[in-house]
Amino acid sequence: MYRIGLGYDIHQLTAGRDLIIGGVKITHEKGLLGHSDADVLIHAIIDGMLGALALADIGTLFPDTDKKYKDADSTILLEEVYKKIRAKGYVINNIDCNIIAQEPKMMPYIPKMKDVLCKILEIPYEDLSIKAKTKEKMDAVGQKLAIEANSAVLLKKIK
Ligand SMILES: [Zn+2]
Repeated sequence: MYRIGLGYDIHQLTAGRDLIIGGVKITHEKGLLGHSDADVLIHAIIDGMLGALALADIGTLFPDTDKKYKDADSTILLEEVYKKIRAKGYVINNIDCNIIAQEPKMMPYIPKMKDVLCKILEIPYEDLSIKAKTKEKMDAVGQKLAIEANSAVLLKKIK
């Protein structure tokens, strides 16, 4: 049996924060604002995984009122959610996702993101697609005020 989920996230860009996307630190003068490390791509993937099984969303699972998740490493949150998926008898079939940012360029970092994410999710590189787009200078993302990500996650039941 297969189940599909859709994930979306957006965070504001702000000075004085590290920019971490897909578990990788990216060289940039601004970072994403959030209670955790604000890893917009991992958050979109997590919401896709949870959505596929009609479980609670990331905000319910890891509330921003909980001090435990202050500046939390989102790769740890991804590991926790992956364990939930496995506990229900599912594995990842494949994931397709987009990072939407006017700057900086994401392309050079995508191989490293795939290293990090494929290892946690126990999938080969060909089962994870990460694409990078801009907003053609339109809206908050195009004005470099925010970075967005979305994902489609297909889960496969193995037991
Ligand atoms: Zn987020």
